[in-house]
Amino acid sequence: MKIDILTLFPEMFDGFLETSIIKRARDNGYVNIEVHNFRDYSLDKHKRVDDYPYGGGAGMVLMCEPIFRAIEALRGEDTLVIMMSPSGQVFKQAVAMDLSKKKHLILLCGHYEGFDERIRTIVDMELSIGDYVLTGGEVPAMAVTDAITRLIPGVITKESLDSESFNDGLLDYPNYTRPEEFRGMRVPDVLLSGHHKNIEKYRQDEQIRKTNDIRSDLRGDNDNG
Ligand code: SAH
Repeated sequence: MKIDILTLFPEMFDGFLETSIIKRARDNGYVNIEVHNFRDYSLDKHKRVDDYPYGGGAGMVLMCEPIFRAIEALRGEDTLVIMMSPSGQVFKQAVAMDLSKKKHLILLCGHYEGFDERIRTIVDMELSIGDYVLTGGEVPAMAVTDAITRLIPGVITKESLDSESFNDGLLDYPNYTRPEEFRGMRVPDVLLSGHHKNIEKYRQDEQIRKTNDIRSDLRGDNDNG
């Protein structure tokens, strides 16, 4: 899988790309992530990529020319172009799962007031990471890239993926590690019992209990319990 990220601030991705699971996935060839600066596609001699909004109002708007040129230069036959936008479809685990099967993604990170509306004509999809406004699309692009990369087969163990939150519309079960007792709080006896059937039952029950308590809205997505 190849992910091209287009941004005005490539340096924001340095730590993200060089740390932990994302770094390992890149080093082992599961994903090839490249970060590009819109400015490199500007025809303007000052490398300008934004301008004032027609009609007046606050902020700067990203211009069509450099962004169209960047997409046209990077797009191949099997490319999905995704714009980060608070007005996009809300990014969920099921969307991450679909996207993890694609060959090539281009992620567009807006900044300031966002994109010239005409840029929407050359994107295939618009994604929002939630109902709040950030200063730019860089953090959303990292969230989307991270969620997708860890789902690429081989990046992390299948076992870790099987039991985690949002599979089958359920949250993950609670986990504990040593010590058995910390400041009066004990690890549930069943987890110390070595009885695998009971442990599995406890975990399933906890997933259902937790989801009903905290996120009953997720239960519409599945038919468990
Ligand atoms: N004026 C716009 C906000 C622009 S924020 C509005 O009110 O909708 C600048 C850029 O940050 C956006 O172009 C987008 O790329 C990114 N961004 C901000 N919040 C986001 C979110 N919740 N999800 C995805 N991208 C977001």
